[in-house]
Amino acid sequence: MAAEDILIRSSTVLVVEDNATNLLVAVNYLKTCGFNVLVAKRGEEGLQIVAQTPPDLILLDVLMPGMDGFEVCRRLKQRVESRDIPVIFMTALTETEDKVEGFKAGGVDYITKPIKPEELFARVDVHLKLRALSQALAERTAALETANRQLYRLATLDGLTQVANRRCFDERLAREWKRLARERSPLSLLLIDIDHFKLYNDHYGHLGGDECLYRVAQALERGVSRPADLVARYGGEEFAVLLPNTDRAGAAHLGRQLKDEVDRLQLPHAQSPVKNCVTLSLGVATVLPQQDDPLTVLIERADRTLYRAKQLGRDRLVVEDA
Ligand SMILES: [Mg+2]
Repeated sequence: MAAEDILIRSSTVLVVEDNATNLLVAVNYLKTCGFNVLVAKRGEEGLQIVAQTPPDLILLDVLMPGMDGFEVCRRLKQRVESRDIPVIFMTALTETEDKVEGFKAGGVDYITKPIKPEELFARVDVHLKLRALSQALAERTAALETANRQLYRLATLDGLTQVANRRCFDERLAREWKRLARERSPLSLLLIDIDHFKLYNDHYGHLGGDECLYRVAQALERGVSRPADLVARYGGEEFAVLLPNTDRAGAAHLGRQLKDEVDRLQLPHAQSPVKNCVTLSLGVATVLPQQDDPLTVLIERADRTLYRAKQLGRDRLVVEDA
């Protein structure tokens, strides 16, 4: 017997049937085939068993005292926990309308009475296999979605600093530009440079430089709290922070916080003419995006203010004039 068949045969089948003779035939045969069998003589009892011990498949009589099989099936299909369990109706009814009503109630198949064991086995077997396949498919789909998310993350992440990469920044800038042009809401950009990073690299080596970039990037990431704000590595030792729906004052305030965050790291920078630890220069620019304006306007303006910050002696934030 194939592994798959062994698995299918160790499945649990619930039989809900009020007629003792029919019940005995079905249960005995299913047990002979190796299934675990649960039994209920009334619809209500069947629902209780499903709630306590969800089976892999349900054989459901249609005509029963109290709640009939169609109603039992409808209730099973309303509950998240039981809606994926296949239901096969067992019925002496042979009218087409009855069969249609069974499918409408959520049944996957039906067996006409008197029950013929071979048919019973064939239908139970095929629906258990279908269920196993659809479960496997759902698992694979979930695994694929996880892999896709990881892939997207890798494609948008700067490997060294673990913040967004330039490509991610460019895409986000284009998207936010369009959105904020429609909203008529401001977009701010912080361009940030690590002061005298070349001297840092020369003194501490490239591994030391990499470590510094990582720690600064992570400090920036920590300092940004709104989900829409984006910290990205813009180039070598340059970072960009994109701040949607943020005006000049808000951006300047956040810029100062980010600067403080990095100052607190107290990363030694022995060769820096500015201070004995790593410092930042920051330029802030704010625009009201216009649909037809080039995005580069914002970058050029932030770049100019960053240049001014450097000219004024570095270790500072400069906000462009209103
Ligand atoms: Mg009956």
